[in-house]
Amino acid sequence: MTQKTLAQLPSVDRLLALPALADAIARHGRQPLTDCARAELAATRELVRAGHPLPATDALAAAIVGRADRLAQPNLRPVFNLTGTVLHTNLGRALLAPEAIAAMAVAAAAPCALEYDLADGGRGDRDALVEPLLAEILAAAMGEQAKNFAATVVNNNAAAVLLALDTLAKGREAVVSRGELVEIGGAFRVPDIMRRAGAKLIEIGTTNRTHGKDYAEAIGAKTALLMKVHTSNYAVVGFTKAVEEAEIAEIAHTHGLPFMVDLGSGTLTDFARWGLPKEPTPQDSLAAGADLVTFSGDKLLGGPQAGILVGRKELIAKIKKNPLKRALRVGKVTLAALEATLRLYRDPDRLAQRLPTLRLLTRCEHDIAAQAERLCPLVADFAGETSLVSIEPAMSQIGSGALPVERLASAALVVRFPGKRPGRQLAALEERLRALPQPVIGRIADDALRLDLRCLDPADEARFAAQLSVR
Ligand SMILES: *Cc1c(COP(=O)(O)O)cnc(C)c1O
Repeated sequence: MTQKTLAQLPSVDRLLALPALADAIARHGRQPLTDCARAELAATRELVRAGHPLPATDALAAAIVGRADRLAQPNLRPVFNLTGTVLHTNLGRALLAPEAIAAMAVAAAAPCALEYDLADGGRGDRDALVEPLLAEILAAAMGEQAKNFAATVVNNNAAAVLLALDTLAKGREAVVSRGELVEIGGAFRVPDIMRRAGAKLIEIGTTNRTHGKDYAEAIGAKTALLMKVHTSNYAVVGFTKAVEEAEIAEIAHTHGLPFMVDLGSGTLTDFARWGLPKEPTPQDSLAAGADLVTFSGDKLLGGPQAGILVGRKELIAKIKKNPLKRALRVGKVTLAALEATLRLYRDPDRLAQRLPTLRLLTRCEHDIAAQAERLCPLVADFAGETSLVSIEPAMSQIGSGALPVERLASAALVVRFPGKRPGRQLAALEERLRALPQPVIGRIADDALRLDLRCLDPADEARFAAQLSVR
């Protein structure tokens, strides 16, 4: 019986000749559709053997097209980040400005003067593409003093720290406060990086308090540098003391040692301008006497993944000569995006509109709440009759270690399922949101699914709404 039924299944060739498949063949190519038809037929045979009825040819064709469309989706897919964390490391951190995206496309498509000096036709230096822009930004804050500094760029800030320590502290000691031995998500631990760089970590002070004399007393014949790490994803509160950068710099310089700061995020502008909490800048650290500062390109800076080292000219020159630099350098596409992003800083008045990260960080609570009002009925409809959806105040986080304690007032759509055990329904709803064409990522906490709308750019709202309505 089963054999007879199976014999009625259309052949791959017959399926491929169906008008229903013509569009899909044009979109994806004949070979992928052939593979999908074979796979669908194999799956169907299994079902028929298990007692299922023979599917209609139309249904088979639709299933094959569905397979091909799914297969053609990129693995790296855009999502809606409604987690409430603006710089979400697992969701790719900063969104690039259109200017940066355009520059990346140009650099990717054409040969470009990456390491080629167009003035004299000789070999150039890729760092020279962004160094003058960084120098300009420094000069705006510190004037003539900025002339003492140079910059270089590597793959990310972890690489910047590794490269700096490998260059300056290999086989010697680096002094760090116990209160700053941080672990950043994704297995970046300051002590581990030090070990990999061949530097011996000298921990000073206690978890909550470190004094100037702790630094001074730790300095010996083997000391290579004093280091400060921005405690980026946590805060020690209560009876605490950390030593000011200026004081550490003075102690270091008294002993003829460099002082290095790992800033982590490190914005290049004064956030107070937009009413945002104060975040340390590389300019501040250098002005306070730091000799070398490292920070990320894709955190508050709002650019591509990169690690930027800015510091005294002779230190940067030494770092650039380290063979590891070659292994950690960035490519032309990254440099194109970084250059275009840094250019936006020339016009601070328009920065909050042009830099998506800053635009999202500065969105006002009332606009976000109004957006929640608009979307509430749609989300309620999507979540189903047994759900209760409300608009509630929320506190967004900057994320990626910036300002760990500060929160930004926002608004969230909060979905609950009244009843005893809402867990299963919440998980099912979360799964349905993740299965949308552009998956929606929220956060389940306290028996509710929270969708913080801070990162739903008003320009994307219609698209967000449309995919919730199609069912
Ligand atoms: C984020 C961070 C790093 C790592 O930077 P990546 O760019 O993610 O490599 C290192 N140190 C601190 C203090 C950080 O906040």
